[in-house]
Amino acid sequence: DNAQPKKPSWIRVKAPGGKGYADTHKIMRENNLVTVCEEAGCPNVGECWSQGHATMMIMGEVCTRACTFCNIATGKPPEDLDAFEPGRVAHAVEKLGLNHVVITSVDRDDIKDGGAEHFAQTIRAVRHRSPKTTIEILTPDFIKCDPAVLETVVEARPDVFNHNLETVPGLYPEVRPGARYFHSLRLLQRVKELDPSMFTKSGIMVGLGEDEQAVRQVMDDMRAADIDFLTIGQYLQPTPKHHGVDRFVTPEEFASYEKAAYGKGFLMVSATPLTRSSYHAGDDFARLRDA
Ligand code: SF4
Ligand code: SF4
Repeated sequence: DNAQPKKPSWIRVKAPGGKGYADTHKIMRENNLVTVCEEAGCPNVGECWSQGHATMMIMGEVCTRACTFCNIATGKPPEDLDAFEPGRVAHAVEKLGLNHVVITSVDRDDIKDGGAEHFAQTIRAVRHRSPKTTIEILTPDFIKCDPAVLETVVEARPDVFNHNLETVPGLYPEVRPGARYFHSLRLLQRVKELDPSMFTKSGIMVGLGEDEQAVRQVMDDMRAADIDFLTIGQYLQPTPKHHGVDRFVTPEEFASYEKAAYGKGFLMVSATPLTRSSYHAGDDFARLRDA
């Protein structure tokens, strides 16, 4: 049965347009960059891009995984890593004049280090051209790599190390095949062990079929792994071929998750229907830093 629940009134999306949006679009195209905002069909693109907040996706447009919620193309990536990409990302960040940038990637299980060195080079290139910009990376799980590759990324000193758990462990086989819940948790815990001054962040989507108790357990697991920031947003089905929406979680339920999360000790929580991993990431981080 493919019948999907009707979108509720609180899932309202502003249509993209205006000068800020057009400027961001131009800078992305001029620098030949891929954005997760476009590839994932993110509902916030109108709002984010009007302020220059685009999340760049490095290492190509084809992912070696096939998560059933995700709109990114999957398969064997046609190309090697582009050695000029870190420079183009750095150029775009400078042109956008960002205070905070989020950089993510596809998974590259076909590369020995999973792209760790490419991430590190991108961080260094951005920092060189925009020393005041805080850098958040949203990384793959490097599950097939030597655990030491994580050090390569951490040593480049991003300000925020983000890796999403995406869903509760019981839904991994159907939602995130190829990934392992405890591997991802442990990855974030190791980041904290390697550099206790680095902020760690993770997120999940809700409305995939999880129950509330399992969401609260994920929060506990994250805190046990010393994760600092949490995002929770409503899953939206990108196309009818993707995992179905089980239900729309109400704004009141999101508010209750947020309250619970602060109670468990997260430093920063965003839990709303349209929260995405990179949504308002800069504003939230600046608030925390200035607090
Ligand atoms: Fe892009 Fe993130 Fe904003 Fe979505 S929430 S448009 S992915 S920056
Ligand atoms: Fe999408 Fe990331 Fe899964 Fe690849 S690993 S399919 S980019 S969610």
